[in-house]
Order: sequence, then structure tokens, then C-alpha cells
Amino acid sequence: MRRYRIALIPGDGIGKEVVPAGRQVLEALAGAENGIGFDFESFDWGGDYYRAHGAMMPEEGLEALRSQDAILFGSAGDPGIPDHITLWGLRLKICQGLDQYANVRPTRILPGIDAPLKRCRTEDLDWVIVRENTEGEYSGAGGRVHQGFPIEAAMDVSLMTRAGVERIQRYAFRLAASRPRKQLTVVTKSNAQRHAMVMWDEVAAGVARDFPEVTWDKELVDAMTARMVNRPASLDTIVATNLQADVLSDLAAALAGSLGIAPTGNINPERVFPSMFEPIHGSAFDIMGRGVANPIGTFWSAAMMLDHLGEAEAARRVMEAVEAATADPKLRTRDLSGAATTAEVTEAVCAHIAAAARRPLATA
Ligand code: NAD
Ligand code: MN
Repeated sequence: MRRYRIALIPGDGIGKEVVPAGRQVLEALAGAENGIGFDFESFDWGGDYYRAHGAMMPEEGLEALRSQDAILFGSAGDPGIPDHITLWGLRLKICQGLDQYANVRPTRILPGIDAPLKRCRTEDLDWVIVRENTEGEYSGAGGRVHQGFPIEAAMDVSLMTRAGVERIQRYAFRLAASRPRKQLTVVTKSNAQRHAMVMWDEVAAGVARDFPEVTWDKELVDAMTARMVNRPASLDTIVATNLQADVLSDLAAALAGSLGIAPTGNINPERVFPSMFEPIHGSAFDIMGRGVANPIGTFWSAAMMLDHLGEAEAARRVMEAVEAATADPKLRTRDLSGAATTAEVTEAVCAHIAAAARRPLATA
């Protein structure tokens, strides 16, 4: 029996609904004789914790995470607390503190999902966006002076290091090389941003020499948005800076059908620290507490987590159950124009996993 220590951080809003749903799916998997088990530890960090303690998570919080095998995260964002406090106090603190420098975001149109691009066939859209996750536009460098006075000045410095750029480019080229099409698009804005982005391009060209099997091209970020809509099949693996990839991946999620489906992994590739998996959506203030959030993004994230832990067969089983759910019109949540609840989708996915376990294992 292989056992994994999983930290659960639901956070705020619908995070408190989808992370328990994710746990249910992992428990169903463990209960279905897959030879794996989980020891869960829940952390009540987030907006409520902030109101009680004045911080989103305790000072020694990162220590408590270091000994885990992986983290399943919900969302940080509370209607009563400014977004930059919730984001920096929890999610960015963990990503930067545990050096999860590669943010990996697969996008596919799952079976049964009605995606908005009418001329796009399901097989035309199969992307992985790799986002630099520790520096760039979200480095946190900057400041405000003369605050509140008419001469106030403020700056957010996009700080890029050669080491930081090289490691994310190398990760993206390696990932591209592992996929069937072996194709990478490097997103840039080196026409307007003439310092760091020029270095970004130079580093990409240098790393590319180590991956002769990968076909790669460069695209300016603005042109990239149009290419994603007009020529989705021309893309496979994509690498972009922290802010650029943040924006592009919400577009990707929408093009694949819904923000409620899209998963992500915050990866520490060297495995010195645990990696963190989360749906890409936020706290969804408009629907929180009503039990109608789509849990599929969390389930897909849990499947990514299993893959990262080396449990490819278990990950496949979760995705098979997820795809059975998306294919069933009765199991659509409101973001997919349906009326199903979080609990109904979760129970259906768990039931599918249990039923599949009674069939003989496919030989991989
Ligand atoms: P959001 O993702 O919370 O919501 C955008 C829209 O999508 C809303 O209409 C929402 O109802 C819908 N939606 C999102 N996820 C859904 C799901 N699983 N099922 C059904 N509908 C879903 O984005 P926002 O409104 O920009 O942000 C709300 C809060 O969340 C803010 O505080 C923001 O800072 C935070 N946020 C956090 C993260 C994170 O922690 N990773 C990511 C994005 C936003
Ligand atoms: Mn985002």
C-alpha cells in the first residue's frame, strides 16, 4: 500500500465546497482497491483565519506544509478583505515559499462540453500553458511613496532573473518534448518591453539548442490571444511570463468551455518541496455557499496531483470518471448551463470510480 500525505487548504468562497468534494473523490479512489491511501491534513487558512488572527496563514505555516507529499488548494479571496492581501498572504506565499516555479495548466475540451469556438473540433484544442510562477510582474518588487497625496507615485517592478527565466524555459521545452507533437510556443512582448523580455527571448533561443527535437516559435502576447481563438490547432505547449500566462490561461479555460473545469499545478520540479494543485477559478462570490460550484476543476487538479505523485493509473481513473460526468447532460452545473449541484457531480464521479474498480484493470 502506497500512502500519501495530502494537505487540504480549502481557503475561501467556493474553495470550501470544491476541496471537500476533491477529498471525497480521492477517498473513493483509495476505497476502490487501487493500492493507494491518503493521510489528509486540513488547514483552515484564509479570510476567516485572517479575521481571527490578522494573517491569512500562521508564520510557521510553510513548515507544516514541507512534510506533505502534495497540497490540494481551493481559492484565496474574501469579499470583506482586499484581494492583494488574500492573494499575497496565502497563495503567493505558498507558491513562492515552496519554490513552485512552474505553473502548469492543461486545457482540453472534455467530452460533452459545449465550447464557444464554433469551428474548433475537440481535437484542435489540446494545450498546456506553462506559467512562470515566482517572479516577473508578480515579483512583489515596487512600492508606493507620498501615499494619498497628489504627488503619489507607485510602481510594480517586473523583475526577471536569468536563472528564473532559464529554469522555466527549460521546464517548458522538456514538457513539450514529452508530448506527441513536440511543439512549443514562447510568448513574449519584447517589442515593447525592451529589457527583461529581450533577455527572455535570448534565453529561450539558448535553451532551444538543447532540445533539437522540439519545434518552437515565438508569438507576441497580443497576437497570441487572436491565434488562440483563430488557429487553436497551431498550438500545443506554451510558455509565458507570470502575468501573460495568467491572462492567457483564463482565456484558454473559457475557450475550453468553463472556468469551472480548468485545473492547474504549481510545481516544484526538483521535488525539494511539495507541489500544490488547484482549480484555476477563484472564490466565486456570486455563487458561494449555495452548493452549485462545479467541482470538475478540482477533480482534474487532483488527477494532476496523482500524476505528479507517480500514480498515473489512478490519475487516469479519475479522468475517466470526470469525462463520464461531463458527457452526461444531467450532471452539468450552472456554469455549463445545467442545474446539477456540486454534491450530485461529486457522487456521480465517486460512483464511477467505485464501479470501474470492479472491472479488471486495463493493461497500460
Ligand atoms: P472567479 O473565478 O471567482 O469567478 C468568475 C466567474 O466564474 C463568476 O461568475 C463565478 O461564479 C464563475 N465560476 C468560477 N468558478 C466556478 C465554478 N467552479 N463553478 C461555477 N462557476 C464558477 O473570479 P473573480 O470573480 O475574478 O474572483 C473572485 C475572488 O477570487 C477574488 O477575490 C479573486 O482575487 C479570487 N481569485 C483567487 C484565485 C486563486 O486563489 N487561485 C484565482 C482567481 C481569483
Ligand atoms: Mn488568474
